[in-house]
Amino acid sequence: MSQKVRIDGVKHAGASVFLGVDHCNNPCWSRNPERVMVWLCDGWRTRFNQRREQRPHNVPVKDEAGEIVDWIKEPLGGPDVAELLSDKETRLQCSWMARIPKSVLSSTDRLENTEWFAGLKRKKLIGGRTPGFKSRHRGLGFVCWRNASKTGNAIFHKTGRKSGVVVITGMNPSQWRKPEEKLHWRIIIHVRASQPIRPYTSVHVDWTHRTLVFVNMPLPLPRIGGGVIGLDRGCVHALASSDGTFMDMPKPTKAELKRLKHLQRKMARQDRANEAKGGKTAKLASKRRQKTLSQFNALQGRIVRRRNDWIEKTTTRLARENILVAMEDLDVKAMTKRPKPRPDPDKPGRYLHNGARAKAGLNRSILSNNWSRLMKRLKDKMDANGGRLVIVPAAYTSQTCHQCGHVAKENRDSQAVFHCVECGYEANADVNAAMNILSRALAKTGGDTA
Ligand SMILES: [Zn+2]
Repeated sequence: MSQKVRIDGVKHAGASVFLGVDHCNNPCWSRNPERVMVWLCDGWRTRFNQRREQRPHNVPVKDEAGEIVDWIKEPLGGPDVAELLSDKETRLQCSWMARIPKSVLSSTDRLENTEWFAGLKRKKLIGGRTPGFKSRHRGLGFVCWRNASKTGNAIFHKTGRKSGVVVITGMNPSQWRKPEEKLHWRIIIHVRASQPIRPYTSVHVDWTHRTLVFVNMPLPLPRIGGGVIGLDRGCVHALASSDGTFMDMPKPTKAELKRLKHLQRKMARQDRANEAKGGKTAKLASKRRQKTLSQFNALQGRIVRRRNDWIEKTTTRLARENILVAMEDLDVKAMTKRPKPRPDPDKPGRYLHNGARAKAGLNRSILSNNWSRLMKRLKDKMDANGGRLVIVPAAYTSQTCHQCGHVAKENRDSQAVFHCVECGYEANADVNAAMNILSRALAKTGGDTA
């Protein structure tokens, strides 16, 4: 998923790069590309470490005898670490970071999350070693996101049969414009590219080893079939397809739901107790409540991950086997419906929102089948391999007879069975709907599948 190339050299073009102000408030500019590269590496690493400092880890609480009595969460930067500033605030605070290009500065955010959850870094933490801060001694480097806009960044241009350049662009602040110079500057990284560069999302520059890695977009899934399929969101099965098969999304078990509800109630109880003790702010400070919350989140996370795994696998299979997939439009209104706030029994004229919202959140995140996610993933995968996801209006798909086209409410014998009152056609209700969705999609595209 990535392509590594050698860096042959760097050049500078445009305005002198503003590197910051020194102790006496004198501006420092540079036209030396090597110096600017080090500056970029320093800025990126500093920002990366600022983010990592915020990452909480478990530290033991010991009593006088040295016995571990409890574990508490503490940021990696220590208990007194300052809150993370936004990119903008950081720029204002440190003049030397003021003009690190945005694509470089903000790449730390995306990277921090993916790196952390890759598991390797977390393992190191559990082993008690120093967590993954970036150190200058381990090598210089930075990441820049590819930005294809007008003021683009990390754009690759071919310059020869086996060579190319990656251009990093930036702009000096107007108050630190060098006299008689423009604001924009460019650093041109010459690379040796023996193979064509595939589409990429970001470049990782390893300045110590003079290499550059293009992180590619995922390769399209090779298609193994040319099927056309309609999908209906069923009531019994998550998905019913027009060829008569069903796909079931993993649901939380009864025991899991019971435990979730139990934990939720427990949390509400702890909230009430804490509020009675010391007002609203006390509820976040309570350790027992924090423990309940983390138990709740762990279980909920497990359910969500299981479902996301199913979504990935199902959409991959659908995108591999079909050239056209038809689905109906999401009913956004019904999806975002929320229980009404109920009147507060203790305070007349006021309404309780919290419980209702929490319940709605639970329903939406766990019980809902997460259609938008499925559709998005399917669309990405179909687009990538040249397939097509067609969205058709949802009206009457479940009441229309696929055989004769008769539309009637009475066609639905029950929730599961479709029985046409006109021609007597009988089928599974969801499969009938899926077939209608497919024929609507084919009518929409004129039978054109590609
Ligand atoms: Zn019919």
